[in-house]
Amino acid sequence: MGRIKQMNEALSNMIAAGEVVENMASVVKELVENSLDADSRNISIRLLDAGLKEIRVDDDGIGIDAEDLPLAFKRHATSKIASEHDLYRIASLGFRGEALPSIASVADVTIVSSTGKGEGRKLSVRHGEIVVDEPSASKRGTRVIVKDVFYNTPARLKHLKSEQKELADIVLTVNRLAIANAEVAFDLSHNKRELLSTSGDGDLRKIHYNVYGADVAKRLVPFEAENAYFRVEGLIAKPPIHRSSRKHVTMVANNRIIESPRLRQALIDGCKGYFPIQRHPIALVRITVDATLVDVNIHPRKLHVKFTEEAMLATLIERSVQAALSQEDLVRDVRKTPQRQETPPALDLSGYDTPPQEGHTLEETPEVPVRDRTSPTRGKRLPRLEYVGQAMGTYLLFQNEEGLYLMDQHA
Ligand code: ADP
Ligand code: MG
Repeated sequence: MGRIKQMNEALSNMIAAGEVVENMASVVKELVENSLDADSRNISIRLLDAGLKEIRVDDDGIGIDAEDLPLAFKRHATSKIASEHDLYRIASLGFRGEALPSIASVADVTIVSSTGKGEGRKLSVRHGEIVVDEPSASKRGTRVIVKDVFYNTPARLKHLKSEQKELADIVLTVNRLAIANAEVAFDLSHNKRELLSTSGDGDLRKIHYNVYGADVAKRLVPFEAENAYFRVEGLIAKPPIHRSSRKHVTMVANNRIIESPRLRQALIDGCKGYFPIQRHPIALVRITVDATLVDVNIHPRKLHVKFTEEAMLATLIERSVQAALSQEDLVRDVRKTPQRQETPPALDLSGYDTPPQEGHTLEETPEVPVRDRTSPTRGKRLPRLEYVGQAMGTYLLFQNEEGLYLMDQHA
């Protein structure tokens, strides 16, 4: 009898932390999302030892009122929703009021913040106790410093991947946040070395250049579509650029980065035939939808959301990607310009790991030495070939009286 007890706050925060603070990247994500919710224009993230030693996030957002600051550390305390009604039309990234108390239950946290009106305030919580509480400068914005994450949860600490992998996860997270928020300037550094810097001028090509480099930036194809419920717009890097990981498909719904296997599949279906099997494009899909048609409150880390009419959205994504890529279709290009039918169009192969030698485009070398040892024409040069098109994003198709030829662009 009498064995059920109400947990104390420290314990319940640690349990919440198990869901919210999975790894270093999730800590960074929660802090940056808070900065974004505060309408920041500049967000700087500085890491020491992959964030394990220290994560420091500075922003120039609206700041926290000095008298509110202690509340920011309290569970279920949020400035973002006030009623049940708000829950059905969430426009902010956060709303659960769990991130800061969860992080503070497994790390030492300092917040320095000011709304820019009058003095700011600095609070440090160490081992769950307030150890510093003092006035701070009045410059508008917030600085959050998180030190020694998981110092009190050795099992969790042991579960972290290598420092290198944790850092890679953080970089991927920040890259995606920067791509999803092109109008915000991001700055990421690790042990004082700069890893990413974006200008915040809203130029998506530029951000892809910052994140993925020139080859990707110049091969981006835009797509867009709209119906009564959704607006979809995005960019996809056309073949032959592709990745083994799906993580370079960034899906954003009303500014929130989401994970959606179903919608990602719709994108993949839309580019069927353009990319080799098991390879994934680099792409950004932005979905705009009325907040009442999407439920963001179905996942503790707010990664998954539920759309009303999701099937319709999937079709919209698939078709718009398909339409955009078909405009780039080499076969169609050739048909539109009959004088080029005899020779293939010049190919930009700059996306390869080892780019072809300067000036060596297929257009200049209509005669290709035969490599296939089983071919009856071994040792000879190929006869003149008519270029037909491209398949699987990799093979060039040629034909002549003798038959059809497949040429692997990677070879
Ligand atoms: P949530 O984001 O779900 O509201 P958090 O625990 O992440 O919960 O943050 C608690 C509150 O602290 C927020 O609602 C917000 O009012 C305030 N806050 C946190 N970080 C910032 C920031 N960088 N700028 C302004 N306010 C912040
Ligand atoms: Mg938050």
